[in-house]
Amino acid sequence: MALLEIRDVVKTFGDFTAVNHVSLAVEAGEFFTLLGPSGCGKTTLLRMLAGFEQPDSGEILLDGKNMAGVPPEKRPVHTVFQSYALFPHMTVAQNIAFPLKMAGVASAEIPKRVDEVLEDVRLQQFARRYPHELSGGQRQRVAIARALVNRPRLLLLDEPLSALDAKLREQMQIELINLQKEVGITFVYVTHDQGEALALSHRIAVMSQGQVEQLDAPETIYSYPKSRFVADFIGQCNLLDATITEVQPGRMKVEIEGVGTAEALPVAGAQVGGKGTLTLRPEKIKLGATLPQGNADEVHFKGRVHDCLYLGDVTIYIVELDNGTLVETMLPNSGSGKAKFFDDNDLVELAWRFDAGHFVLA
Ligand code: ATP
Repeated sequence: MALLEIRDVVKTFGDFTAVNHVSLAVEAGEFFTLLGPSGCGKTTLLRMLAGFEQPDSGEILLDGKNMAGVPPEKRPVHTVFQSYALFPHMTVAQNIAFPLKMAGVASAEIPKRVDEVLEDVRLQQFARRYPHELSGGQRQRVAIARALVNRPRLLLLDEPLSALDAKLREQMQIELINLQKEVGITFVYVTHDQGEALALSHRIAVMSQGQVEQLDAPETIYSYPKSRFVADFIGQCNLLDATITEVQPGRMKVEIEGVGTAEALPVAGAQVGGKGTLTLRPEKIKLGATLPQGNADEVHFKGRVHDCLYLGDVTIYIVELDNGTLVETMLPNSGSGKAKFFDDNDLVELAWRFDAGHFVLA
C-alpha cells in the first residue's frame, strides 16, 4: 500500500479550478516532487496534504486512513516553509522542543527526543546556539529537525531553498538528499525549479494548470517528455513541428516542417498523418564542420551558425537550418583549451541518433 494516496482531488477558489482531478500515490521513503510553473496548483495540493485547505471533492489517504476532517495538528505530517520560521529568541534545542511541548509530550522525555533528532541532523554541538548564530544550511537543518521531532510519516517542503543563492542552494540540495536518505522519511517537495527537481527527486509530478502532465523518474521526464509543455518546461529543448509520414516496428519517419525527413522512435498512438513535435535536447546533437555520413541510425542536416554563447564549461551554438529554423546545439569546452569551435556564419553539419529525438503527439 502506498504511504500517501491522492484520489481524484479537486480544489476550486470561486470559479477558478486550482487543482483539477489529481490522482497520484507516493511510496514510503520516496523523495517526491511536485514541479510546475507559478500558479499551477502545487502549493494548493501541498496545503491540502497538510490539512490547511480542504478538497472540494476527492480523497487524501495517509497509511490508508482518509484524512477528510482531520485537522493539521492531528495529521502525521509536518510542513517546512521557505522561511524556515524558526523562533529567533529560542535556542536550537528550544526550537526543536517546541512542537513536543505543544503536543503534550511529558517534559521528562523531551530532552531525549531533542537529542535524538539533533543527532539525526548532525547538530548536537549547536544545541545552545540561537538561529542568528547559524549558517543558512544549519538553520535549514534545525527547521527539518523541528519538523522531524514529532516523528511525522510525511514531510512536506514548500520551496525551502528558493531564497538562497545558487551556490548555497546546491550545497543545501546535497544536504537534503543525504538527510532524506539518513532519516528515511518520505518527502513531498514543492518547487518551480526544474533543475532542483531533477537533482533531488526519486519521482517528479510535473503540473500544469491544476493537472499532472507527467509523473515519472527524473531521467524519464527529461528524455521522454510526454507533452510539448513538459519538454519545454524541463531544461533546454528544441521543439520542431513535425508530421508522421511512416510507422514501422521500432522506427517511424517524421517530416519536420520546412526542414526535411527525420527518423524517430515510434510513440504510442503514432499514425501516419499524426501531427506533433519532435523534441530534441541540445546536448544530443553532434556538430561539426563536416560529419561522417553513412550511419543509418543518424539523422543529418546542414546549417549555418547564427549565434554563439560562451558559458565557460560549454558553448551554445544556435544553428540556422536552410529554411530558417533555429536549432540549439552545444559543445563542451573541456580539454580543447578553445572557447569556440565555430564563429557566426560558419557552415556546419548537425547529426543526431534517430532515437535521441523524442516525438510527442499534439
Ligand atoms: P507558486 O509557485 O507561485 O506558489 P503554485 O503552483 O504553488 O504557484 P498555487 O499557490 O497552488 O500555485 O495557486 C494555484 C492557483 O490558485 C493560483 O492561480 C492562485 O492565484 C490560486 N489560489 C491559491 N490560493 C487561493 C485562495 N486562497 N484564493 C483564491 N485563489 C487562490
